[in-house]
Amino acid sequence: MKQNVLLGAPGAGKGTLSQKLMSVLPLKHISTGDLLRQEISNKSQLGCEISEIISKGQLVDDDCVVRLILANTDLNSNTYLFDGFPRTLAQAKLLDEKIFEKKSSLIVYLKADLDFLKKRILNRRTCSGRECGEIYNLVSKPSAIDGICDLCGSILEIRKDDNPTTVNSRFKIFEENIDELLSYYKCSNRLLELDAQSNLDDFVINFKNKSMNCS
Ligand code: AMP
Repeated sequence: MKQNVLLGAPGAGKGTLSQKLMSVLPLKHISTGDLLRQEISNKSQLGCEISEIISKGQLVDDDCVVRLILANTDLNSNTYLFDGFPRTLAQAKLLDEKIFEKKSSLIVYLKADLDFLKKRILNRRTCSGRECGEIYNLVSKPSAIDGICDLCGSILEIRKDDNPTTVNSRFKIFEENIDELLSYYKCSNRLLELDAQSNLDDFVINFKNKSMNCS
């Protein structure tokens, strides 16, 4: 099976799509944002160094993210869905050279209208339960009891970087990098594009066939 990458602006629905893909394929989800937030909540040395960078919506340096991925993956035994990495052309090249090495891969770009996504992010609420992390939206997916996770009963919180200033900075970085990334992957014939508002279930079937085909 191919290794997989999900590209998309913040809030495009990469988490939701990941869950659907994992329901039909034995994939492990690896989100660099989750790994970095985990370092912050563990108060590790790395966590202390990156906390301010993340709260400003800037990018953590490439070496640090690559090291974190290498420490948390085993590509010889597992097939992954990379979410939130790569974010730049330099990271895409590092992913090919240091992580994928010669393994074949498939890249999915979840395309969405950025103004729509900014509003969506500002209404996003995330479960604070360590093992849960379910994502809600005040408008499109509210929890049954305000502020409480339906699945585990933990408190819902607003991610520290889901505020208007940081969101603008995260979108700016996304817009500065996405075209280069898409060109890189188009050239190597690995790119599948998907409209975030289209039927994700149809896409999942198509993806499953492509991912299983290792040629
Ligand atoms: P996310 O959960 O993917 O929205 O990521 C949250 C934040 O973590 C980003 O705004 C960045 O500050 C940092 N981050 C996540 N992934 C990366 C990456 N691949 N390279 C650098 N910084 C990252």
